[in-house]
This record gives sequence, structure tokens and C-alpha cells, in this order.
Amino acid sequence: MTPRTSDTPRAIRSQRVVTPETVQPATLWLTNGRIERVTAYEETPPDGVLEDFGDAVISPGVIDAHVHINEPGRADWEGFETATRAAAAGGLTMLAEMPLNASPVVTTLAAWHQKVAATQGKLRVDCGFYGGLIPGNLNEIEPMLDAGALGIKAFLVHSGLDEFPAAGEIELRAAMPILARRGVPLLVHAEIEDEAGITPPAAPSRNYADYLASRPPQWELRAIRLMIELCREFKCPVHIVHLATAQALPELKAARNEGLPLTVETSPHYLFFEAEAIPDGATQLKCAPPIRDATNREGLWQGLRDGTIDFVASDHSPCPPAMKNLDSGNFAGAWGGIASLQWLLPIVWSGAQQRDFSLQDIARWTSTAPANMLGLQARKGAIAVGHDADFVVWHPETSFTVSTENNYHRHKVTPYDGVELKGVTRATFLRGTKVYEDGEFAAQPTGQIVGK
Ligand SMILES: [Zn+2]
Repeated sequence: MTPRTSDTPRAIRSQRVVTPETVQPATLWLTNGRIERVTAYEETPPDGVLEDFGDAVISPGVIDAHVHINEPGRADWEGFETATRAAAAGGLTMLAEMPLNASPVVTTLAAWHQKVAATQGKLRVDCGFYGGLIPGNLNEIEPMLDAGALGIKAFLVHSGLDEFPAAGEIELRAAMPILARRGVPLLVHAEIEDEAGITPPAAPSRNYADYLASRPPQWELRAIRLMIELCREFKCPVHIVHLATAQALPELKAARNEGLPLTVETSPHYLFFEAEAIPDGATQLKCAPPIRDATNREGLWQGLRDGTIDFVASDHSPCPPAMKNLDSGNFAGAWGGIASLQWLLPIVWSGAQQRDFSLQDIARWTSTAPANMLGLQARKGAIAVGHDADFVVWHPETSFTVSTENNYHRHKVTPYDGVELKGVTRATFLRGTKVYEDGEFAAQPTGQIVGK
């Protein structure tokens, strides 16, 4: 494959281009990395600089708003090279990276600069960053916003890393007026243990039901109620990450109907797996909050259908295989996190097409809505004139099986290994440059850091 430079005037077309209005045959004219015009399919550039993708679908590039890359400091877990290569192969054109689990965690401006430095020459897709809110770092919040933070992340429960302690109501109340004034979202891991704020030590167990019972829906409900109250009080944009319980949907819906600046994401594993079918010892499926039952899963799909859940983000959170306790199958000590960055689109699509959702629903959940939450809607998240020429060209009707051979993550442990998914990425365009096509990557990484 010959990568083109971003300033080459060119056009691409297919019989199925997903725009905000419809799915139609169209030609997209690209100039200087942006979409210059969207015209009828028949309109062909006179100089012949046209690539015709036939009946493949051209959708806006996938934007994953919740990714853990672990570099610097824990690049043996996952790094920018491997993660963004996997992202490009999966049709992603942008991801937003969490302030943990790298080392140092990004809770200071100094750590922010280390994070940015660690990306040099490695990004195959665009990448933005969140800062973290922990007890004692309030003075670092505005400097991180000034540096371009797309949001500020807080945990209301132990994060899994001692250097990223949970924020309490005191920290939230101090930070939310700042974020409200700046118009930047507070992203919240919404679980609060019990009334006393103490997590009971989990007993060693291979039984998934034990792990599931150790983090009940009430933890999510308690945290979400607190965040709705604070959102109402401070009018600060609040984003609930990886919603796992459908029980919270009525209250979230009511809060949204009230006009509160509240957004919600769920993750592909909550839409794909069901607790009843998770075998004992299957720690590759451990994440927090836990994957709940099939009825709950259908409730989450309903939340997407009625718009209470805005979008889906992978929460890609890999670790070295040994940390998953795959030999012992002990859920209690295993790292909580699921690797799925590369397959956000096919996982969601595989479930969506079984439930009669459309290609436009997919574009909204994997591109438009995350761009909105990130405040990037003027340039990303839609096939529209003036937007970045970020596209995924894919075959929704074609299936593939996830395997170690086609998995570009640093480590190959994932609950999707051996799973057949629908939706094969044909090519990925980043600001007009083809960064991936049919198993091959552009020679040079051309991703940029995107800030607020
Ligand atoms: Zn996460």
C-alpha cells in the first residue's frame, strides 16, 4: 500500500456512506486532511484521483473515549505503539486515554508532560488525554485543563492503583465549580462500596458468582445518585463511565430529562457477555463493575435505544498475562480489566445487528456521541464538510474470528479470543491519510495529540 500525504487532493466513494442524515452512495472529496465536499456518487474527479470502495461502508472514524495505555512506566502492560496500531486496525481514528494506569498517573502537570513525551513518534491514530482528580491535587486541575485535558477523571471507589486514590465528596465539590466554568466534563467511575466506605476484602474464589456478588448494582446506584445531585447543584458536565447496571437507567433518564449536563457510556463487554455463561476461573472476564446477567444486558441495549446511554467505549484495560491469574482462576487477586480496543466496532455491531439497529446507530455510538462528550464535535465524529477526513471503511456483513494472529494488542489475553465477530475493517483514514488497509499499516505513524 502507498500512503498518500495529507495534502493530496483526492476523493473516495462507496455505495454506503454514513452521514448524519442517511446512508447513501456518495463521493467524499478530501483536501488538506479535511472533508471538502460530499457529492453524488457519480461525480468523479477529472484527474482520476479516486478510490472506489464499492459496497463497503464508509463510516466516521471510530472514537474510543475510554482507553488505558499504561505508558510511560508500565509499557510492559500496553504501550502507545501497540495500542494505536490495534486501534488503526479496528477502524479507530481517535482515542482518549485515561490518567491511569501508567506510572506516574496523570494527576499533575508534570506527569501530563511525561505522558505527552511518551507518545513521541508512536501514535498511529489521534490521541487525547484526561487528567485525574485525587485528594490533594486540586491545584493541578486548571494547569492540566490549560494543557488540553479533554476531561477530568475521578474514582469513587478504590481504583486498583494505590497512587490513584478515590475522590470523596470534598474533592468533587472543590473541583466541580472549576469544571463547570471551563465546560469540561468530570468523568466518574461510579461505584461506592458501602455506607461506611469500606471495601470488604474479597475472599479467594474461582466462582464468578462470588465476584459478581462482591460488587452489587447498589454500589453503582449509590454513586450515580450522588453524581446526579452534584451535577444538579454545580451544573458541571458529568460523564458516567462504563455503566454496568441497567437498574440506574430510570434515574439517569429522569436526570437527563431535567436538562442536567449528564452523559453516559457503557462498554462492549456489558453488551456482549452475560454472567450466567461465565465459567468458573474465567478471570479474563473480570472487570469493574462486573458483567451482569442477560436481562441486565438487554436493559443496557434498551438504554442505548432510547438515548439514555450516549455511547460505547472499550475501557481497554490490559495487563501482563500473569496478573490475570489465568492458572489459578482466582477472581479475587486478578487484575480487573478487559482488552478490547481493536474490536470496539465489530463487538458493538455484532450485537447491534442482531437487535435491528442501523449503521447510523453505530456511527452515533462509536463516533458522533463520544466526539460530543469530548467537545470535539466541530471537527470529529461525523462525515460532514469541514470535519477531519477520519473514516473507517468496513464490511459489516463479513465475519472474522479473533485470534492471537490478528490481535495487535501488546498481550493477546482477551475474552474475545476465538470469538466470531461481524464487521471487518477494510481501511482506516486519519485526516485523509490511509493509515491501515487489509492488514498493512502506513510506514510512518501520523497520529496527533488532540486537546481541548
Ligand atoms: Zn477504565
